[in-house]
Amino acid sequence: MNTRDTSLQILQQVFGYSSYRQPQQQIIDTLVRGEDALVLMPTGGGKSLCYQIPALLRSGVGIVISPLIALMQDQVAALRQAGVAAGALNSALSAEEDARMRTLLRNGELQLLYVAPERLMTSGFQSLLQQIDIALFAIDEAHCVSQWGHDFRPEYIQLSALHENFPGVPRVALTATADELTRREIIQRLKLERARHFISGFDRPNIRYRVSDDSSNARQQLLRFIQLNYAQQAGIVYCLSRRKVEDTAIWLQKQGIQALPYHAGMSQQDRANHQDRFLREDGVVMVATIAFGMGIDKPDVRFVVHMNLPKSLEAYYQETGRAGRDGEPAEALLFYNLQDVITLRQFVEQSDADELHKRIETQKLERMLGYCELTSCRRQALLAYFGDVQKEACGNCDTCLNPPETWDGTVAAQKALSCVHHTGQRFGVNYLIDVLLGKNNERIQRFGHDRVSTFGIGTELDQKQWRSLFRQLIAQGYLAVDQEGHGGLRLSESCRPLLRGEVRLQLRRLQKEKSGKLRKQRTAYQGVQGALWEALRQKRLELAQEQGVPPYVIFHDATLMA
Ligand code: ADP
Ligand code: MG
Ligand code: ZN
Repeated sequence: MNTRDTSLQILQQVFGYSSYRQPQQQIIDTLVRGEDALVLMPTGGGKSLCYQIPALLRSGVGIVISPLIALMQDQVAALRQAGVAAGALNSALSAEEDARMRTLLRNGELQLLYVAPERLMTSGFQSLLQQIDIALFAIDEAHCVSQWGHDFRPEYIQLSALHENFPGVPRVALTATADELTRREIIQRLKLERARHFISGFDRPNIRYRVSDDSSNARQQLLRFIQLNYAQQAGIVYCLSRRKVEDTAIWLQKQGIQALPYHAGMSQQDRANHQDRFLREDGVVMVATIAFGMGIDKPDVRFVVHMNLPKSLEAYYQETGRAGRDGEPAEALLFYNLQDVITLRQFVEQSDADELHKRIETQKLERMLGYCELTSCRRQALLAYFGDVQKEACGNCDTCLNPPETWDGTVAAQKALSCVHHTGQRFGVNYLIDVLLGKNNERIQRFGHDRVSTFGIGTELDQKQWRSLFRQLIAQGYLAVDQEGHGGLRLSESCRPLLRGEVRLQLRRLQKEKSGKLRKQRTAYQGVQGALWEALRQKRLELAQEQGVPPYVIFHDATLMA
C-alpha cells in the first residue's frame, strides 16, 4: 500500500473521518517525505491532523510544541481515546509523572508527545531527544514566536535551535494568524526558509461581520442582539478589562442571560469550571477577556461580540473565527468608541517595548480603525489584509446590507495618492499630510517637497480628516504600508482606477455627526479620529472654563478623559 492509502486509512480508522479537507493531504505528504512546511489555516480548519497523521506514518515520536497546557491536555485525551500512544510534558505534571513520561519516550513507546516550549529546550531534554528516533517537530500556534503579535511567548524564540540540533527531522509550523509580517517573522525566527507554504482561504462565509459605532448604549444593544437573534444560544462576548468582564457578566445574568465571566484574574479552578460549562452546556454566553479562546473547539458558537476595539485585525479575525465553526450562520459584532482608541494608544505608549515595536503596534491599531470606518465590504477588506483577495463584495456584512451614509472623497483621495507619488513613495502619513496642508517645516524643505506640485493643495480638509482618509486608502488597499515599520506608504496597483476617476472613494459619515451634540460643532470632522479630537477639544475648553485658566494650560489627554 502506498503512503496515501495508509494515511487515508489512518484518517478513517483512527480519527473516524471519511476524507481529507484541503490541503491536509498535501501537507501530510510533505512531512512524510521529510520536508518542512509552513501551514496557515484558519482556526477550526483542521491543522492538528496535519502533524498527527504524519507522526503516525513516520518512525519515531512526533514532538508537538504547544503554548497552552489546557490545549495539550484536550488533544492528548482525544488521541488516547482514539488509541494513539500520546502524552504531554508540562508543568502540570508531578515529578513522578514526568519521570514516567521520559521513560516511555526513551523506550520508544510514544507516538506523539506534546511539550511546552520551555520544557523542550532544557539541555536535559534536548540530550534525551538526541538519543531517540523523532518523526517530526510540529510547532503549533507558531505566531507566538512573533514579537509584534498579540500572543508573543519568549520561549518560542529558542525553537530556532531545533533546526541546528536536529537537521534531519522535518518541522512544521502552524498558525491561524497570517498577515505578511507575522509570516515572515515565523520563517525567519524558526529558520523555515526551505519550508513549503500551505496557505488556505481565510474566508468564513457563514460569519456575518458587523460594526456599531454607536457604543453609547452598547450593553442594551448587546442584550437586544442576544434576545432577538440568539436566545439560548452559545456566544462569546469579549471585553478589554477584567472589571468590564465582571460587570457585563453580572448585568447579563440579571437580565436572564446565562452568562459566565472568564479572565486571567480568576482562580484556575473557576476558569476551568466556566470553560467546562461553556463547552458542555447549551446556550452559555462567555463574557471574557482575550485570555479566553485559544484552542477552544466548540462548533456551535453562534456569535462573538467585541465590546471594545481589538488591538489588531489579526486578533479580531482570530477571535471572531471562534464563531460558526460548524458552518451554520454566525455573527461577529463589534462596538467601537473613542475611549478605546485612547486606551489602546496609551497601552502602546506606556509599554516598555522599543520604538519600532510601538510604531508597528500603532499601525496595527490604525488598520483596525480603518476597518471600522469602512464604507465598502468588510469581508473583502478583512480578507485582503490576510492576502486573500476577493473580487466581489460579500453581500452579507453590514456595509453590504445597509450601505452607510457617506461623502465623496474621490478628489481628496486623488490628491493624497498623487502626493505619495510626488514625494517618492517612502514617507509616512504625518509627513504627507504636512505636504498636502502646505506646512513649511524644516524636513519638507530639506527634501525639497515645498516645490512639488501637491504642496499645499489639500487645505480643504484638516489634519484629522486627512488621517481618516489615509486610513481608508490603506484599509481598502489603495496604499500599502512598508513592512519595515517606518510607516512609509507606497501606491498599490489597484489605485489606478481611482486616480483615473473610474472608481470613487466613499467615506463614512459617523452616526454621531447626525445626532444632537456633535452636529452643533462648527467643524464637521470625519472619522473616529476626527470626532475623537473634536471631543477632546470640547472637553479641554470646558475644563479650562471651569478652572478659570486659558485652554492651552490643559494639555494632557489622559487627564482630560479621566
Ligand atoms: P485548528 O487547529 O486548525 O483550529 P483542529 O485541528 O482543532 O483545527 O480541527 C478543528 C475541527 O475539525 C476538529 O473538531 C477536527 O476533528 C475537525 N476536522 C479536522 N480535519 C477534519 C476532516 N478531514 N474531516 C472532518 N473533520 C475534521
Ligand atoms: Mg489548533
Ligand atoms: Zn460585504
